[in-house]
Amino acid sequence: MFESQNQSNYPSRCNLIGRCILSCIFVFLTHLTLSGIPRFFSTFSFLTQLALSALLLLLLLGFGGWCRRTVLKAKASAPAFVFFSILFVWGFYFSVIRPVVPRPNDVVFNCGVGFLFVGLYRIMTSDPGIVRNGSASPDQLVERSLSQVDEELELMAIGLGHGSAQDSGLLMRVRYCKICKAYIKDLDHHCPAFGNCIGQNNHPFFLILLFGFIGTEASYLMCTSLFAAKSGILDRPSELTLSESLAISTILFIILQLLWQVMFVIWHIYCVCANIRTDEWIKWKKYPEFQLVIPPEPGQRFTNIRFCNPYDKGMVQNVKEFLALRT
Ligand SMILES: [Zn+2]
Repeated sequence: MFESQNQSNYPSRCNLIGRCILSCIFVFLTHLTLSGIPRFFSTFSFLTQLALSALLLLLLLGFGGWCRRTVLKAKASAPAFVFFSILFVWGFYFSVIRPVVPRPNDVVFNCGVGFLFVGLYRIMTSDPGIVRNGSASPDQLVERSLSQVDEELELMAIGLGHGSAQDSGLLMRVRYCKICKAYIKDLDHHCPAFGNCIGQNNHPFFLILLFGFIGTEASYLMCTSLFAAKSGILDRPSELTLSESLAISTILFIILQLLWQVMFVIWHIYCVCANIRTDEWIKWKKYPEFQLVIPPEPGQRFTNIRFCNPYDKGMVQNVKEFLALRT
C-alpha cells in the first residue's frame, strides 16, 4: 500500500492474516449457501432463483457484518474477499467445468483470471496521486472557497515542483480521503473492494480493470453454459449433485456481479463525460464550487442551493482532458 499513509492506521501482520482467513471462510460459506438455491428451489424459474440469490447475498452480507461486530469482534478484508472470490470461481472452473470446455474458451477465461489477479495486485499497490506535503486539515480544505483552495494548492504545487497551468487545474480537485488519511489528486472515490483510493494516477487503470472483470465473468458464463448443456443439469434440476448445484449458483452469482458492474461502469463513463468525480457527485454539497446559490424570490425566506458543475466543458473536451492529463 502507498507509503504516505499513517502506518499506525494499518493492522499488524497477525491481524491482517486473521482478516484474510475470515474473508476466505466467508467466501466459502457464501458460495456453499448460494448452492442451496438451485438445489432446494429447483422448480422455481431462473429469474426467481436470481432474485432469491440477490436476497440471500444481502442477508449474508448483513449477517456476516453482525457476526464480525458482535461474535467474532474482528474485521474481514474486502480486497481479500474479492481475491478469494476470484480464486474460488477459478478453482471450481478448473476442477469441474474445464474438462468439457473447448480450448479457445479455456484460454480466454484463464487469461482473464490471470489479468484479474495481476490487476488486483497493481490497483491495490498503486499510488492514486498522493499529495505528499499537504498541511491543511481535511475539514479546512473542504470548507474553504475555491479561490482560497486554489491559492494554497498553487503554493503546494510550487513546493512540489509542479507549478504548470495544467497541474493547477488538477490540483484544484485535490480531495482528502479519511480512510487513507491522505490528500489525493483528482480523487474519484475510495474503493473498499480494492482497498485503495482511485485518483489521477490509477483512474484509467481502474476502468480497464472493471472491463477486465466484466469480460472474464462473461467468459465464465459462456464456459458454464457449455458445461450445463453437455451435462444436462437443466433437464434434471431435482437430481443435482453439490458440484452441479455450484455450477448453477456460480452462474447466478456471476450474473448478479455483472449487472452491478455494468451499472457501475455506465455511471463511471457518465462521470468522465460530465467531468465530475464519483465523490463529488455524491457529496456535492460538501464542495462550494458545485453550489449555485439562487437568491430568494419575493415572498420566499430562504435562498436555494442548486448543483452546478464548473468543470464541465462539454463531453468531447471533458473526455480529452481526462485522457490528456493522465498520459
Ligand atoms: Zn482512500
